[in-house]
Amino acid sequence: MHVEAGHGILEDMERRRVGILGATGMVGQRFIQLLNNHPWFEIAWLAASERSEGKTYGEACRWKLDTPMPARIAAMTVMPNTPEAQPAGELPIPKIIFAALDADVARELEPKFAAAGCAVVSNSSAFRMVEDVPLVVPEVNADHLALIERQSWRRPSANGLPGGYIVTNPNCSAIGLVLALKPLEERFGIESLFVSTMQAVSGAGYPGVASLDILGNVVPFIKNEEEKMQEEVGKLLGSLADGKVALLDAKVSAHCNRVAVEDGHTECVSIKLRTKASREQVLAAWAEFVPLAGQRLPSAPEQPVEFDAAVDRPQPRLDRMRGHGMAATVGRLRECNLLDWKFVVVSHNTIRGAAGAAVLNAEVLARLGKLEMKSARPDAVLV
Ligand code: NAP
Repeated sequence: MHVEAGHGILEDMERRRVGILGATGMVGQRFIQLLNNHPWFEIAWLAASERSEGKTYGEACRWKLDTPMPARIAAMTVMPNTPEAQPAGELPIPKIIFAALDADVARELEPKFAAAGCAVVSNSSAFRMVEDVPLVVPEVNADHLALIERQSWRRPSANGLPGGYIVTNPNCSAIGLVLALKPLEERFGIESLFVSTMQAVSGAGYPGVASLDILGNVVPFIKNEEEKMQEEVGKLLGSLADGKVALLDAKVSAHCNRVAVEDGHTECVSIKLRTKASREQVLAAWAEFVPLAGQRLPSAPEQPVEFDAAVDRPQPRLDRMRGHGMAATVGRLRECNLLDWKFVVVSHNTIRGAAGAAVLNAEVLARLGKLEMKSARPDAVLV
């Protein structure tokens, strides 16, 4: 089949059937928006809680995005949230499952799908820090995907076919941050960093933070968020050796705040580098950071870190959609009186920070041959 991708890329490839777990939530809706008409993937199965099961997607979902719910998806039935027991006459569940579940639910359900032979591409925090589960942003640490071969579900069955696995993407604030940090870590090393976030309300799911709590207000607490950011940055920027990730040896301190912004997280960062770098060297590190160039991945932005020189940018309303919502925008680079440099980064929390990140992870897995359960190549690397 010859298809044209949304971003002008031509591919000869059968579209693979995929499923979405948690399809009715904020991230689930983004999955539908991003996967509808995706050149490599076709939405074939949707599931959510038992409250939604058996309804059409149109009945079950309170659609909150500014593009219409696709008619084909609206007519689909929300299936039971299990890899077994599909209603009579339905096709078996797809081998690729995008998951957008709360952590408690993910902890119970994701292993069941991996054990049933599915590639589970997850947004949840439930397994991010587990030793053999890759926590991946493809521009930052695609090599960590090799960890899936260590997962118990992956062992070949009696017929020799490799089994399923879980791959995760980070917390929505950690993603924008590590995109800005990776080029600096590569060239200069990072000794310590301080980050203070202003996080959009859509990051809390739907209905999320009550309007009476957030309107005209800032809430200086997001449960577990500071801990997640600190530990995830260490794993994402860590190095893989002997089948384990050695965490980045840097001090990280995060303050996380919820603000009355609909979409797009803003982060103020101060950083101390191991080797001194000039302003020009920092800007060059960001500008020359194109680790996925030539891979022709439909969701990868051409320039993952975009610098804006304007004195008052980046701003979430103006900059969150750069790179189709997949780029991180940096700006306000200036010397820091406490550490070396300080800057601001903005990224879209439900696209780059969630569903788009997972779709890009799946595209890399496709390129590596790790979605071909019959012929996966454990030693494949992205070159
Ligand atoms: P959400 O809007 O609250 O949606 C939760 C989804 O999970 C809904 O589809 C819900 O279905 C479903 N669900 C609840 N219980 C279930 C069960 N027992 N079995 C199957 N499905 C069940 O949450 P969200 O914002 O989309 O977040 C989903 C996950 O992504 C969370 O782990 C979150 O931390 C993570 N994440 C979110 C963001 C963000 O910016 N929002 C960013 C990064 C990561 P019903 O409609 O039937 O209740």
